Amino acid sequence: MHQFHYAGNKLHCEGVSLESLVKKFGTPLYVYSQNTLADHYQKLDRAMKPVDHMVCFAMKANSNLSVVRTLANCGSGFDIVSVGELMRVIKAGGDPKKCVFAGAAKTEAEIEFALKQGVYCFNAESEPELVRINKVAARLKKIAPVAVRVNPNVAAKTHSKITTGTYEDKFGIAFESIEGVYARASKLKNLRLRGVQMHIGSQITETTPFEKAVQKMLPLVAKLKARHHIEFFSIGGGLGIVYKGALESGSPSWWKTTAGKTILTPQKYADRLLPLLKPLGLKILMEPGRFITGNAGVLVTHVEYVKRTGRKNFVIVDAAMNDLIRPAFYEAYHQILPLNKKVRPTMSSDVVGGVCESGDYFCKDRPLPKFAAGEHLALMSAGAYGFVMASTYNTRPLTAEILVNGKQVAVVRERQKVQETWAGETVAPWLK
Ligand SMILES: *Cc1c(COP(=O)(O)O)cnc(C)c1O
Repeated sequence: MHQFHYAGNKLHCEGVSLESLVKKFGTPLYVYSQNTLADHYQKLDRAMKPVDHMVCFAMKANSNLSVVRTLANCGSGFDIVSVGELMRVIKAGGDPKKCVFAGAAKTEAEIEFALKQGVYCFNAESEPELVRINKVAARLKKIAPVAVRVNPNVAAKTHSKITTGTYEDKFGIAFESIEGVYARASKLKNLRLRGVQMHIGSQITETTPFEKAVQKMLPLVAKLKARHHIEFFSIGGGLGIVYKGALESGSPSWWKTTAGKTILTPQKYADRLLPLLKPLGLKILMEPGRFITGNAGVLVTHVEYVKRTGRKNFVIVDAAMNDLIRPAFYEAYHQILPLNKKVRPTMSSDVVGGVCESGDYFCKDRPLPKFAAGEHLALMSAGAYGFVMASTYNTRPLTAEILVNGKQVAVVRERQKVQETWAGETVAPWLK
């Protein structure tokens, strides 16, 4: 569940109306609910309680310092994919010792920094990477904790741009090669084989792919435990969320949608996986990103114009693909709600941004309330892979980000100034 709801006609984040935030901070505006973040973390943490476990929030989904701090305060660890993310964890007051370092292209400098910070584990994606980690660790006279990312070759049945666990994908090392890789890695003196990892994809909305992957991994994991005394098995992230109809109950028909039939809850996930995992006697790591932050954030935007061309009704807004790229990149669906839900007719509409790309749209031919210029909309479920993927394309400054906690409001990222979009650029001296 999330804490975006209507009170009267006004869409609220927790105890604060989004209109009041628009008045103070302008648009486009990302707004996050702190209690939703904490609630999602705690739901998963509680569901996994029967086993020794650690939830490592995949902070690439949303790395705002306040989001990281909220989760650190809940006890979360972090799945990081760059030194930049590790520095953010430190800056936000999180614990490097609860960080797992993923990513296929770790540089020597990154490995060195992470080793010095004492990260929990490096999740390696290739043998040359293991060799490199060993070399850096030897130079620093340290022992590097490592796990290998296994590609279990299980289809996650999700969008091709977010599937990662088949041999068509660049991720991990093939299942069949893993025993040999661990045997060779065990001879590298500055490595400690601490665990094994998998991650099969993202926005997975049923338990079966997770179950299949875990089942396939079990005998291998047990062998690695016996031979190399590994301590943990990371089952990755990928838990899907509801993008459609999250505000369905008691809502007028124009935002009723078809989805929401089976929702993957942490409890269902745990109920199916724990009986498989428990007998291993290992620490279980999870790396949820979207599940924690996806429904904890919205992007609020202003309707600039409404334009009819032929049979089309275009609602042109001040947010664009540079602020939220998911529809253009993944054909992703974001529910669109008015900040004021006053009664009006339904109209099939395209909601689009002002960037010069035909891919710059938030929805096409969707039955929506008839919007008028001057009003505000919320693109729901924008808390994961939203702001973090924003760019200044078209010299559009990065949006502000707001954190809400009950009735408390904080600007957790200032709106970028236009001049800041060219900071660091110069005109070459010979051009002057
Ligand atoms: C992206 C990623 C995650 C998080 O994925 P979600 O779908 O957001 O849960 C977890 N682990 C790894 C290795 C990833 O690359």
